[in-house]
Amino acid sequence: MIGIPEGADVELDLRLEAVMEGVLVTGSVRGRAIGECVRCLGEVVEDVDVTLAELYVYPERQAAATEAGDEDEDVRELQGDLIDLETALRDAVVPALPFQPLCREDCPGLCSECGAPLADDPDHSHETLDPRWAALGGLASQDDETKES
Ligand SMILES: [Zn+2]
Ligand SMILES: [Zn+2]
Repeated sequence: MIGIPEGADVELDLRLEAVMEGVLVTGSVRGRAIGECVRCLGEVVEDVDVTLAELYVYPERQAAATEAGDEDEDVRELQGDLIDLETALRDAVVPALPFQPLCREDCPGLCSECGAPLADDPDHSHETLDPRWAALGGLASQDDETKES
């Protein structure tokens, strides 16, 4: 429904700290998520600003913990000298995004009759044709057909 588009700029303000177990990454992540309004399908632009706090452990540490039966599936490992931030970013950003994005709080959605966005035309309504007029309408179109032939 909503997410930060691939290739979009994400601003990171991170601090890396060496700790006993590995490297602690803390800081903030800012970006712009683009999505679709669940009511009217219009574009939703949501600024994201979340904080990140992740511990990346040394693989040796993790291996030792696994052996000790102390495994934690959520633990992130250092990849050699590198940190793979992608999953951490995703895990930080996704919960911050609205589950059901709306273009605006009171989005009136789409007309159930014709599907037009009601935000553009709030007073928009559809006259229900009086059955008698509907019958006349039928006659008129029959006339048109006879004229044509
Ligand atoms: Zn909407
Ligand atoms: Zn309508």
